[in-house]
Amino acid sequence: MNFSKELNQNELFEKVALAAQKLNLETYVVGGFVRDLILGRPSKDLDFTCVGSGIALAEEVARQFDYHVPLSLFKNFGTAMLKVGDSELEFVGARKESYRSESRKPIVEDGTLEEDLERRDFTINSMAISLNSDNYGELLDPFDGLGDLRKKIIKTPLDPEVTFSDDPLRMMRAVRFASQLEFDIDADTFFALGQHAHRLRIVSAERIIVELNKIILTEKPSYGFKLLFVGKLLHEFFPEMVELQGVDSVDDKSHKDNFYHTLQVLDNVSQVTNDLWLRWAAILHDIAKPATKRFNSKVGWTFHGHEDRGARMTPAIFKRLKLPMDERMRYVQKLVRLHLRPIALVKDEVTDSALRRLLFDAGDDIDDLMKLCRADITSKNNKKVKRYLENFDKVEQKLREVEEKDHVRNFQPPISGEEIMETLGLEPSKIVGEIKEEIKEAILEGKIQNNPEEARRLMHHLAQAKGLIKP
Ligand code: ATP
Ligand code: MG
Repeated sequence: MNFSKELNQNELFEKVALAAQKLNLETYVVGGFVRDLILGRPSKDLDFTCVGSGIALAEEVARQFDYHVPLSLFKNFGTAMLKVGDSELEFVGARKESYRSESRKPIVEDGTLEEDLERRDFTINSMAISLNSDNYGELLDPFDGLGDLRKKIIKTPLDPEVTFSDDPLRMMRAVRFASQLEFDIDADTFFALGQHAHRLRIVSAERIIVELNKIILTEKPSYGFKLLFVGKLLHEFFPEMVELQGVDSVDDKSHKDNFYHTLQVLDNVSQVTNDLWLRWAAILHDIAKPATKRFNSKVGWTFHGHEDRGARMTPAIFKRLKLPMDERMRYVQKLVRLHLRPIALVKDEVTDSALRRLLFDAGDDIDDLMKLCRADITSKNNKKVKRYLENFDKVEQKLREVEEKDHVRNFQPPISGEEIMETLGLEPSKIVGEIKEEIKEAILEGKIQNNPEEARRLMHHLAQAKGLIKP
């Protein structure tokens, strides 16, 4: 198979080939780019391997571009990076690797192209295209990656036991590629994955989360999670989620399996958003169900307070998984805490103040919250699903009406603390905060309108009642 026509569409390859020729270095484009070229997927990153010094090659390529491209050298690793437009080019000498059991860090030596390809993770990532003049554009595929691309299979080039035990991160990558490409994992490869799951312990949380987030961002993330669960990788880094699995029954009453429910919610929400954090909110929305589960002979299974408990669990889970501990965590936490509130608003006689309170608590995240709530409907009964969705339509309509009237979604106090202090002649103190809080409560309860005039009137009234000013 020859790809010279495809290579000729990008002047980059010509430049690299020229540089290689000048230095008399055998050079190939390898890995993900080759795979994606065959699959017809776009890929920005390009990996080049030469038999010799990758750094020397990168420097010569930079020269071909008259040094108008930023070059970074990592001499300790023998690799170099070039940025050309929005593509990142990596250059490295062909290498062979040997591993010790306690570390992911191999001992690296110079090697041949074949040795370089066999140390790679999967057959579909172990292909190379020659940039050498005698066979320019020729596909080199010692492990039949092409066949596995056609069969849609993720398989290690060598014995999977060795490949995974050398670098356990590859097990996460196996699931990640299977999810992204919608491929199966080869049976022997998957068996070895199950055998080596515990080895994930030597992989840093930072590396694991990179792969997990890529799985979460696929079109149907439940697929990746099921692989992680069956292969017992999930057990290694996310036991809270594993805990969700299972059904208990007492007196013929069973609750639903919250693991598969959560995956359904995640898939549902993924159809309406590519936002990683909204997807994380779906993953965590019921995370405290195991911890709050009770059985009561009158009402059956309950999970009282799982939304609050789940919100309280969120920071520790984020911290351990090395997810960001910033506003993104607080956003997920907020959605977990609020995910039952819109359901309570479905009733006909719902008050404006309940609607205002939800708008106030959710703020600008109200639309995302409604997406999560809609995704949370996983009944198999289509009539029920339709009815629940229509109920949420009504809730959203009511929320819009109240917001238009009262503007509490981005609540700003109608009078400031400074104004309160100045008008009443107060120093900064607790009582100023109390007055502000009571004004806010009065607005949310609908006792006064959300405007400065009514707020001022209430402030005077409160000041009199507290004996701060004479009637
Ligand atoms: P993408 O960039 O879309 O995530 P990719 O296949 O390019 O996919 P990279 O992580 O960029 O993945 O790695 C580039 C190539 O390096 C891979 O195609 C594979 O050949 C090899 N590789 C990367 N990580 C490993 C690993 N942990 N073990 C073995 N080979 C690896
Ligand atoms: Mg890549």
